[in-house]
Amino acid sequence: MNIDYTKYQDGLVPAIIQDSTTKKVLMLGFMNEEAFLKTSETKKVTFFSRTKNRLWTKGEESGNFLQLDAIALDCDQDSLLIQVTPVGPVCHKGTDTCWGEDNVSDFGFISSLESIIESRKISADSEKSYVASLFEKGINKIAQKVGEEAVEVVIEAKDDNDGLFLDESADLLFHYLILLNAKGFSINDVVEVLKKRQ
Ligand code: AMP
Ligand code: ZN
Ligand code: ZN
Ligand code: ZN
Repeated sequence: MNIDYTKYQDGLVPAIIQDSTTKKVLMLGFMNEEAFLKTSETKKVTFFSRTKNRLWTKGEESGNFLQLDAIALDCDQDSLLIQVTPVGPVCHKGTDTCWGEDNVSDFGFISSLESIIESRKISADSEKSYVASLFEKGINKIAQKVGEEAVEVVIEAKDDNDGLFLDESADLLFHYLILLNAKGFSINDVVEVLKKRQ
């Protein structure tokens, strides 16, 4: 790998550390050639620490190593994207990432929808919010709505009206997310079950 160490005055190249599975950015470190070679050989991510002024294998004290999966060099050879499987929390402050996040997959729009549903459960006015009114009626009512929407999906699947089929699919998914939340789960919990079956 032809890394350009001359780009930065201190000769250290930034290495973005990303979880191979969840794709979350875990931390940022810096590497010189020695750190890069040690990382490639040992399969444990090793940086050059400017604070310690020496090679630093992440996890050397805590045991929370970063197991190397893949290394990619950027377009102009001066930064690294390193995919890893972390053994434990990555930040020395105890969080999964150095930005205080949980290391779980983000499902983009679906995840923001889950957040909105959660906020409606906590504080919304049930006269103004449909979701809040569902939460007020309770789990049985929410589960019944999921059943109804599922039946509507089945009915529309038999027709050839794509618009109606997608509308009912959206209704089903939306109400299913509410039911998951009401039961104390999120889409991630379901994905974990699916992963285990693979
Ligand atoms: P570790 O490499 O996990 O054994 O941690 C050793 C020391 O490195 C800690 O006491 C911190 O000073 C520092 N450290 C560990 N993890 C991080 C991190 N993600 N970002 C910055 N410094 C860290
Ligand atoms: Zn670059
Ligand atoms: Zn940190
Ligand atoms: Zn419907």
